Amino acid sequence: MKLYLVPTPIGNLEDITLRAINILKEVDAVLAEDTRTSGVLMKHLGISKPLHSYHIFNEHQTVQRLVAQLKGGKTLALISDAGTPSISDPGFLLVRECIKQDIPIECLPGPTAFVPALVNSGLPADRFTFEGFLPHKKGRQTRLTELVGESRTMIFYESPHRLLKTLEQFAEYFGPDRPASVSRELTKLFEETIRGTLQEIITYFAEKTIKGEIVIVVQGK
Ligand code: SAM
Repeated sequence: MKLYLVPTPIGNLEDITLRAINILKEVDAVLAEDTRTSGVLMKHLGISKPLHSYHIFNEHQTVQRLVAQLKGGKTLALISDAGTPSISDPGFLLVRECIKQDIPIECLPGPTAFVPALVNSGLPADRFTFEGFLPHKKGRQTRLTELVGESRTMIFYESPHRLLKTLEQFAEYFGPDRPASVSRELTKLFEETIRGTLQEIITYFAEKTIKGEIVIVVQGK
């Protein structure tokens, strides 16, 4: 009876630990956000295991069923499409319920996008706040207002089509001269990190078609 949370690569398939591979080989079943995406990874690793769907849309309903399986003696691994489960991905509800029901859990250390983005930024990494995705509509301005006085380095996940709008809002709330960085396509072929003031980064991306996965890091006040 145990739930493992197993980080998977955020791009480069070599970024999976030996222990992650061993755990995926040992468990009774793997819970995956998207069974097709994870099927590709499992195939690449040469692992054949039952893959069950566990995503944000069925998280609430599935938790009790999975807890029953775990209590029945099963060992399960939860993986997301990329990176560490529970980090802007499903996982938290299951972890919380397992802890409540005395089911052992263990999260393996491994890939997640915000750590390399923070370190690559060159901004202070001793104290930081991970903000994940900002709310799209309701609560967005409140969150930004709260962050105006934030002295720690701030880390945000963002989609390419919202990048410019978000950077412009950051410039409005934090000031155009605030140092920041944007890391794109971490661990992938076209990985890049753009550093500068918010205004300089806006100017850089304004002339480009923005593609790929993105992490924004902004220096604290
Ligand atoms: N669980 C993941 C983790 O541990 O980082 C995050 C999943 S979240 C649904 C997806 C977001 O993570 C993307 O929109 C992007 O902001 C960030 N991300 C994931 N992979 C990335 C990569 N290779 N390069 C840059 N950002 C990435």
